[in-house]
Amino acid sequence: MSVSNTGYIGRFAPSPSGPLHLGSLLTAVASYLDARATHGQWLLRIEDIDPPREQEGAVNLIINSLIAHGLQWDGDILWQSQRSDSYDAALDRLLNKQRAYYCSCSRAQLANTGGIHPECCFQAFTLGDAAIRLKIEQHSVEFLDRVQGPQCYQSTQIGDPVLKRRDGLYAYQLAVVVDDAEQQITDIVRGVDLLDATAWQLHLQQTLSLKPIRYLHLPVIVGDDGHKLSKQSFAPAINDQTAKANLLQVLRYLGQALPPADLNITELLRWATQHWQADHIPNQTALSL
Ligand code: GLU
Repeated sequence: MSVSNTGYIGRFAPSPSGPLHLGSLLTAVASYLDARATHGQWLLRIEDIDPPREQEGAVNLIINSLIAHGLQWDGDILWQSQRSDSYDAALDRLLNKQRAYYCSCSRAQLANTGGIHPECCFQAFTLGDAAIRLKIEQHSVEFLDRVQGPQCYQSTQIGDPVLKRRDGLYAYQLAVVVDDAEQQITDIVRGVDLLDATAWQLHLQQTLSLKPIRYLHLPVIVGDDGHKLSKQSFAPAINDQTAKANLLQVLRYLGQALPPADLNITELLRWATQHWQADHIPNQTALSL
């Protein structure tokens, strides 16, 4: 593992719901370069906590694509499917502190009440067979995003997030916060589609007394239909055979200077690391394909 001079620890955390597409490669490259530019570590976490949404073989495709693009991570891969004990421990703490509660409200019920939970929810700290939600007690959550600027979310706007689903699966909001703390992540670089979720995650970090993290939310690439490229919408997988061209395309999207033409992939990434300028990333939420 490379030694981090600056204490920066970044990560790439794909869900194996499909192979990498251009949008997820953009996130991988930006998080890699931002970490390496400060001689930081770059960790890989596979977010495999939602089996119904996973695609067979996707993990191998993702790993092969990262390797083909020269994106070598530090240390061992962290697999969320092996982290249940840590998630349960966090849930126990929250339930014991009465900062989380069991809730059996349906989406339709919550839509009718404008997201307000009935009093019985807030008194249920021991009941099984229901979702577990985090109680958002703060009035508002504020943070500064390195690309998207100052953000402020009112708690009435965001509602109480599910931490464990009724079907027994752990929710992303819980797993991501517990694992970012486990991996001692200092900096998160990811797509702007997760900007709203950051408010929940910050609240959960504070409730669990975890260290604050810096955030950089990248514009997402949208297709002709105006929708974000995503694995769920079957965005085409990146072609590992054209790794160099893919990297150049991603650097262009990220507003970065382009390296001389004759470099191989290792040299190209080294050059891009040396010339990385996070403040050149377009401060938009969407980039057209
Ligand atoms: N697993 C999420 C995804 O593939 C990313 C989570 C994160 O970066 O916080 O979209």
